[in-house]
Amino acid sequence: MRMVFVGEAMVELAPEAGLYRRGFAGDTFNMAWYAQKLAPDWQTDFVSAIGDDAISAEFSGFVAQAGIGTAHLQVIPERSLGLYMISLQNGERSFAYWRGQSAARRLAEDAAALNAAFAAADLVVFSGITLAILEGKGCDRLAQALQAARATGARIAFDPNIRPRLWASGDEMRACLTRFAGLSDIVLASFDDEAAHFGDGDRQATLARYLSAGAGAVVVKDGAAQVLAQIGGQSYAYSPDPVHSVTDSTAAGDSFNAGFLTAWLAGQPVEAALAAGAALAGRVIQYRGALAQQALA
Ligand code: ADP
Repeated sequence: MRMVFVGEAMVELAPEAGLYRRGFAGDTFNMAWYAQKLAPDWQTDFVSAIGDDAISAEFSGFVAQAGIGTAHLQVIPERSLGLYMISLQNGERSFAYWRGQSAARRLAEDAAALNAAFAAADLVVFSGITLAILEGKGCDRLAQALQAARATGARIAFDPNIRPRLWASGDEMRACLTRFAGLSDIVLASFDDEAAHFGDGDRQATLARYLSAGAGAVVVKDGAAQVLAQIGGQSYAYSPDPVHSVTDSTAAGDSFNAGFLTAWLAGQPVEAALAAGAALAGRVIQYRGALAQQALA
């Protein structure tokens, strides 16, 4: 199997003992990192763009070290990685971002490179953040490459991961997310985002809306609450085991996606795939940071 994850990874600066610890994270990159750990015998590639500077080279080394393919990290010499800084105030985390000029915004500039990256993929995964950051006609080129990959048998998975601040307007955001849901075999949504930005009254409404947009299947995550899904015309509801000591909910949705998608791609029954997603996410939120090695032990 070959899994391809498309999007932006950033430099992460996290406070630790009066200094900042440097890491790398980003929604689709986190998914790739967990997916590679869960399915080490499959090929996992991260499709993005980086600069030709030292920090970009460090990132590329980090990706390779994690067992993730770097062949489709395009180099945009005049750009570099985006960056975010975590601040802790009274135990609450907040984030400041410097990503407006990141190389990843141009990851869909070259249609041929995108097609080559998706060739012979069994699964292509992207998110609403991937769409939000693309410059110029990037979304149209991504749509074409996804359609071409799908036509040759790849399954397309989409997490809307709604971040209104990355979009020019709410209407543009909703139209674009709806368009790409219609190009996807499966949409993996988080209910709180969907309720806030599409006005869905309940999880069923989110499910129905994405199905009517043309999604092949839909999974709706909702924190500790039941995960609803409609896959292959069948309805499912899965209750995650409750986690009482949540340390850091970062990457809950990303790790759920990795657990679910690797099991689903392996041909496991839907219930088992939902359970695999929820089990991994339930462990990840008990550790600090987006990439929790301890959650995989
Ligand atoms: P995100 O907001 O990061 O996209 P969600 O909050 O919807 O993600 O959570 C994704 C998944 O993580 C849930 O479907 C569930 O399986 C798991 N999860 C999150 N919070 C909890 C919790 N408090 N207890 C158990 N599982 C949780």
